[in-house]
Amino acid sequence: MARSRIPVEVERRVRASARNRCGYCLSPQHLVMARLEIEHIIPISRGGSNDELNLWLACPLCNRYKSDKITGVDSETGETVKLFNPRTQVLFEHFYWTEDGLRIVGKTPIGRATIAALHLSDDPDALEVRSYWVIAGWHPPKD
Ligand SMILES: [Zn+2]
Repeated sequence: MARSRIPVEVERRVRASARNRCGYCLSPQHLVMARLEIEHIIPISRGGSNDELNLWLACPLCNRYKSDKITGVDSETGETVKLFNPRTQVLFEHFYWTEDGLRIVGKTPIGRATIAALHLSDDPDALEVRSYWVIAGWHPPKD
C-alpha cells in the first residue's frame, strides 16, 4: 500500500484517543520537544494501512526503534511474540515502572519483548531525561 497522508481529522482523533502521549513510553506531548508522531501499529511495509484502527501516537524515539517491527523476543523465554498494541491492549497489564521511575519492566512476554525491541528501559538519553522528570514530580505516570 502506498504511503498517503493521514487526514487532519483522523490525526486529531488518534491524538485524543492516545491522550496526547506516546503509546509505548507514555511520554506526554507537553514534555517532549519533538512532535509526537502518528505511527502504524502494523507498519505499511508489513501490510498495515492508514486505517484509523491501525494508527496510534508514538514519540520519535519509540517510533524509530519500533521501525517496521511487529514482533519481539521475550527476554525470559526466548519466545518471539507480537509487540504491545497500544490501541487494543492495556499498558499496565504488560508493564510497570521501577521504584525510581526510570525504567519500564515487562510483566508479560509481550511487555518484555516490547521493552527490548523499543529500548524502553535502556536508551541513555531517555533515562537521563526521565530522571529530571522524576525530580520534577512529572514521572512516572500512574495510568
Ligand atoms: Zn515513546
